[in-house]
Amino acid sequence: MAVFVLDKQKRPLMPCTEKRARLLLERGRAVVVRLAPFTIRLKDRIGGALQPLRLKLDPGSRVTGLALVRESETCDRETGAVERLEHGLWFGELVHRGQAIREALTLRRHYRRARRSRKTRYRAPRFLNRTRREGWLPPSLQHRLDTTLNWVARLRRLAPITALSQELVRFDTQALQNPEISGVEYQQGELAGYEVREYLLETWRRRCAYCGATDMPLEIEHIVPRARGGSDRVSNLTLACRACNQRKANQSIEDFLKRQPALLHQIQVQAQAPLQDAAVVNATRWALLNALKSTGLPVETGSGGRTKFNRTRLDIPKTHALDAACVGAVDQVRDWNRPVLAIRATGRGAYSRTRTFNNGFPRGYLMRHKRVNGFQTGDWVSAVVPTGKKAGVHIGRVAVRQTGSFNIQAPAGTVQGIAYRHCCLIQRADGYGYAFQPKPDTEEARRAA
Ligand SMILES: [Zn+2]
Repeated sequence: MAVFVLDKQKRPLMPCTEKRARLLLERGRAVVVRLAPFTIRLKDRIGGALQPLRLKLDPGSRVTGLALVRESETCDRETGAVERLEHGLWFGELVHRGQAIREALTLRRHYRRARRSRKTRYRAPRFLNRTRREGWLPPSLQHRLDTTLNWVARLRRLAPITALSQELVRFDTQALQNPEISGVEYQQGELAGYEVREYLLETWRRRCAYCGATDMPLEIEHIVPRARGGSDRVSNLTLACRACNQRKANQSIEDFLKRQPALLHQIQVQAQAPLQDAAVVNATRWALLNALKSTGLPVETGSGGRTKFNRTRLDIPKTHALDAACVGAVDQVRDWNRPVLAIRATGRGAYSRTRTFNNGFPRGYLMRHKRVNGFQTGDWVSAVVPTGKKAGVHIGRVAVRQTGSFNIQAPAGTVQGIAYRHCCLIQRADGYGYAFQPKPDTEEARRAA
């Protein structure tokens, strides 16, 4: 994993290798700024030569992949074709907590509802008395946007990023509408085939059109068979499981679905639905794109079909971080087999100071202040306990107690009752938990993909 480097005045320089960082630290030329993502500051350098760096994002509902790559271009001497090369420097996976936010808000709503209706007289429900501002997103989605932007800003402080890439849509409607390239005959290896497949998976909801089977390999199926003059346009295509595809074979759909007129009608209508209606516009991704544009950096967008096309062509396993590296127009990706920093959004603790039983009645009260003996819940600490049952070194996130007897969430499990005086701060809580994932197990990841 590349190490982020800052100059004497804390401005970003090009990231360096781990080996170089170790040498700089050993010789006393640099100091450690952060452990995750690992950052050093040079004590004797101001400014330096910079190369173009691109931060690539693959926003997902639960995990967003981040890939920081160095860009270069090579020109084929004979054909004059320009090839876009990428060297992977740093990979991260940002795990969002949308579900936790949603649950917490639902819980709060239920408590309030119960509390207010418990002893008050009946009041007629009020409605139509609230407005939402333009571009409002539900809190769980707003959080996704905020944390992603937060990491873009953080990485910009650590590395001289000059461009951004984002996966915006699942498939590129432009590629589908041109009948010349939308045929399935291109499905093996050609970009358009991947766009067609993503489009079909989205419009047919990832299930067999005939029997409704999910979670199994789906094949592209011609509604009017090719043998009967059916075309390769997307309006004649659907998805079917292997069994249905073979059962239908060369029959016309009217014959095949003789006994299911309702299903026949539904499939015919859905196949003819115009493209625009089917193109799922994902509010969060668009909001993210607009926010990324406001950084002033050039933003490239790509489709999910193209990401998959790149990943398959370059024989790269499927992980969130590597998907990010494959976003957009790229010809080669080098040095992608690197460890990944797992970044888990943990929040900064609960706003509510009252703990409750399951039924919502108060059970106890939390401290009014967050800091105890210089520590705060979520701080990354190492505790060296010299004697006793818990003797040893414990490293992890700390949960503080008023008494000064803390809990430490170590990778092996939570250790309870560690005195504050044994603890030593590694990194302050910043709303995220960090873990280093080893290099992707190439074989296993490939099988999963
Ligand atoms: Zn089927």
